[in-house]
Amino acid sequence: MKAGVVKPGQKDSARLVNMDTPAPSAGQALVRLLDLGIDGTDMEINRGEYGEAPHGQDYIVLGHEAVGQVEDTYATKLSKGNLVVPLVRRPDGCVNCRNGKLDMCIEGNYLECGIRGAHGFLREYLVEEPDFLVPVPKELRNIAVLTEPMSIATKGIEQAIEFHSRSANPINIAVVLGAGPLGLLTTALLKLHDYSTYTLDIVPRSSLKAQLVESIGANYLDGNESPVVSLPDKIGNLDLIMEATGNSTVAFQAMSALGTNGVLCLMGVSTGQKPLEVNASCLNMQMVLGNKMVFGTVSSNRGHFERSIQSLASMEQKWPGWLSRLITRRLTLDKFRDALDPAPDNIKTVIELT
Ligand code: BGC
Ligand code: ZN
Repeated sequence: MKAGVVKPGQKDSARLVNMDTPAPSAGQALVRLLDLGIDGTDMEINRGEYGEAPHGQDYIVLGHEAVGQVEDTYATKLSKGNLVVPLVRRPDGCVNCRNGKLDMCIEGNYLECGIRGAHGFLREYLVEEPDFLVPVPKELRNIAVLTEPMSIATKGIEQAIEFHSRSANPINIAVVLGAGPLGLLTTALLKLHDYSTYTLDIVPRSSLKAQLVESIGANYLDGNESPVVSLPDKIGNLDLIMEATGNSTVAFQAMSALGTNGVLCLMGVSTGQKPLEVNASCLNMQMVLGNKMVFGTVSSNRGHFERSIQSLASMEQKWPGWLSRLITRRLTLDKFRDALDPAPDNIKTVIELT
């Protein structure tokens, strides 16, 4: 079978290779992969800034956002023809991993398919145990590839809402920083919960990103006109901020703009950036006097995937066709390298594996 691989640590190493098609053993399903989404992490890995090959190998199959179809199975829970989305993490046996919370792994010896120590899903076939395959309804075929990024937003928002509930005042204003795929999915999830939502990016108001934000009833903010630090004066107490740019300067600006009793969720992995000078005393005082809370979130577990699939279905009902508009480019596997250079105006690239 064909697969798209990279050599971690080496810039622009992405290439197409031929690999043996895996054969399932008892208790494993053979999955024909259909669609694969490319994200910023894949680009970072191809820039040589992130990622780790499986033990004893010098390359890794890229890709961690996928949907496939069960072609053959010995497992009773799945049937031939089922659509499935694979989980990204593989557990290491720590107390969290043993309890299904592999996203909260404490030992740090977890693997991440396509990212760290395990091959990803940019290939034609996958052999996997049903524990790591989440069934998706057939009607969601074309957008199920968004399940994994949606699961990241789901975990972040669920935790942020839980943390905010330590305070009796409601979440009146939610801000999303960044209108890339993760920022847009986060915006949609906040609107599904009916929060008054503002999404900031630095693209013009006429751009597709801004239109997507406004078309579901969220407000688009142009960061060139309204920088993060100006937001409290413009829109009020920032109760919730979801950071989805992965830019550490923006993350620190968000800490200072965060409102009283506010919660800031950091979702973006930042690599290769320059050091930043901050006024630590000022920030510390603002955090203390404002009861502010800042937390980071990574990965997601099976429950987050399952609830993401429900949210995708609700969004399709509420805003028909909106999710498909996030997929601005579809490429064949032979052309996957084109997806690893950021293209202006592109939101999400999906590689078609069939
Ligand atoms: C993936 C997560 C992963 C994280 C850190 C993200 O792009 O969506 O599943 O945990 O990168 O490696
Ligand atoms: Zn663990």
